[in-house]
Amino acid sequence: MEKLYIVANFKSNMTNNEAKNWLDVFISHKQELKNMGDKEVILAPTFTFLLSFNSVFSGTNIKLSAQNLSPFDEGAFTGEVNGKQIKDFADYVIIGHSERRNNFGETDEMLTKKVNLALKYGLTPIFCVQGKDTNIPQGVNVVAYEPVFAIGTGTPDTPENADKVCEDIIANHDNLSVLYGGSVTSDNVANFTKSDKIKGVLVGGASLDPMEFLNIIKNA
Ligand code: PEP
Repeated sequence: MEKLYIVANFKSNMTNNEAKNWLDVFISHKQELKNMGDKEVILAPTFTFLLSFNSVFSGTNIKLSAQNLSPFDEGAFTGEVNGKQIKDFADYVIIGHSERRNNFGETDEMLTKKVNLALKYGLTPIFCVQGKDTNIPQGVNVVAYEPVFAIGTGTPDTPENADKVCEDIIANHDNLSVLYGGSVTSDNVANFTKSDKIKGVLVGGASLDPMEFLNIIKNA
């Protein structure tokens, strides 16, 4: 069965207590979360919560993702978290988010290194592209089309344009699932996921409210 990916990107948000509260609400709906059919729900909290989220979701159908990984392997790279370490807690890793490209100067070359290290350790990259011309490294199977104008602005792309861009991306690559990201909410998610070109959504701001994220999962 083809998966419909629904990814929550918490970005650099939540204290430990806030994350616990989020989990309490989310888990109180575990019965609904057990029966999601083809929906692959992936939570990408900050690194500091990966251990506690892993102990809650280990053995369930909810998957975890890191938001980033080091462009280096293990070793003397102070402050970095590498792919081997992440694999203890997560199955996915977001790579190439525009916030990292723009605020941290991540280049295509660096992103290719990150993809290679993710694959080396058995992590599935969720590779963010800003349009159809963004370079996609070899070995990537899940891409999120995230136009910069739509991220965190409350102004999503039109479903028609998102559909067209996703179609163009797929046309140039084999074995690619393309998701849409940018101001997705429970009200608009179905406008994107109804397209057979769009295989899921990457959700930022709206995922910080667990009830809203649960509704996104339900409506997708
Ligand atoms: C994102 O950060 O990937 C994103 C899509 O954010 P938002 O949903 O807040 O636009």
